[in-house]
Amino acid sequence: MVAIDGPSGSGKSSTARGVADRLGLAFLDTGAMYRAATWLAVHEGLDLADTDAVAALVRAAVFDIALDPASPTIAVNGHDVTQAIRAPEVSAAVSAVATNLDVRADLVARQRRLIADAPAGVVAEGRDITTVVAPDAHVRVLLVADPAARVARRQAELGTAVDAAAVTDQVIRRDADDSTVAQFHDAAPGVTVVDSTHLDLAQVIEAICELAPG
Ligand code: C5P
Repeated sequence: MVAIDGPSGSGKSSTARGVADRLGLAFLDTGAMYRAATWLAVHEGLDLADTDAVAALVRAAVFDIALDPASPTIAVNGHDVTQAIRAPEVSAAVSAVATNLDVRADLVARQRRLIADAPAGVVAEGRDITTVVAPDAHVRVLLVADPAARVARRQAELGTAVDAAAVTDQVIRRDADDSTVAQFHDAAPGVTVVDSTHLDLAQVIEAICELAPG
């Protein structure tokens, strides 16, 4: 099992998919689960500040998650939200759901079950995989990059139509919003820090695959 944590725009999703593909492992994007929970709460018209109602909704929800690194998909309560969870409205609201401790307890339990049930092993990525979800993973990596590099990557992902200042705000604000629940600024003991600021995707994938036991 490979656990990869990192902030928004650190390249952890593309990296984790690439590592899973190279090592023949499944791929779990835990951020997609927080995003799907957020999409559902917004879709149901809940006030995200009503933590009990949001937690009850998430606990009762059925998630259907494909762990194939070639085509990861996620559905919640029968809605395929693979695309919808990337909308700016979901990105803006997700920290409010991710800081709900009852939601976290439920999603962490689901993530542990998904990892336990994957026969070939998993590359899981998120904010608390190396510390909470799978602190006993064979390989634990904190992927970091300078804020400017992370903003540039997120902008490249979103295309030229988006405003640079808005992307900067999104990436930097989400760092701050997430900082209360996810300690991704310092690596926990035993976690290898990989700085991707000056590396391309293939180099980051290589660096992590080298950490995996042969
Ligand atoms: O990785 P991604 O940017 O898609 O994650 C979306 C959000 O989900 C993060 O900003 C964070 O609020 C939350 N998250 C989390 N714990 C994780 C993964 C994501 O709190 N393990």
